[in-house]
Amino acid sequence: MDLQDFVTQLERILRIGITIIAAYLVALWIASVWWTFRDIRSRTTDIFLQVAATLLVAVFSFPGLLIYVILRPPKTLAQLYEDSLEEEAFLQGIQVHNSCPVCKQRVEPEFIFCPWCQTRLKRTCLRCERPLVLRWKMCPFCGTGVYAAPPEEPVSPAVATLPQPEADESELVDATSSTASNGTNGTRKVTPH
Ligand SMILES: [Zn+2]
Ligand SMILES: [Zn+2]
Repeated sequence: MDLQDFVTQLERILRIGITIIAAYLVALWIASVWWTFRDIRSRTTDIFLQVAATLLVAVFSFPGLLIYVILRPPKTLAQLYEDSLEEEAFLQGIQVHNSCPVCKQRVEPEFIFCPWCQTRLKRTCLRCERPLVLRWKMCPFCGTGVYAAPPEEPVSPAVATLPQPEADESELVDATSSTASNGTNGTRKVTPH
């Protein structure tokens, strides 16, 4: 009697223990399937892969979960997005902070020469002396032409003053010639009378 009692007690305890362990495993299985479903959704938008990964863990349980963790995409979509943002920011940084085309060292936008390799980066405007990009054809600050500037700068006042008198003179000559012709015509007209 005592032994039978003990055996039935032991069976009861074992049964309770087994059901607790089974419930625990089922809960773990459900949690792992749910976790896998959420994890694969954060790593890919491919519905086929999402279903395959979830089924893998649902069917094979913990070994399936281990396989999934090994084979899953290494980065989440959020991480990939952050990476792309970082890359974009990096590229923008290169554009904002000019770099020397020869030695790739960072240079300030107002640098005329690269202080590292002595490459000429910019030219200065001959009139307002601001830094100009080498490809610019005209100073954006004062409107002086870059290619025309070197000869223009000393000559331009003379050239600028010279054509005006020339134009005036030609006009004057025209005017005088016309008046002269008129005058001669007038005199010719006058002389016959
Ligand atoms: Zn340089
Ligand atoms: Zn200028």
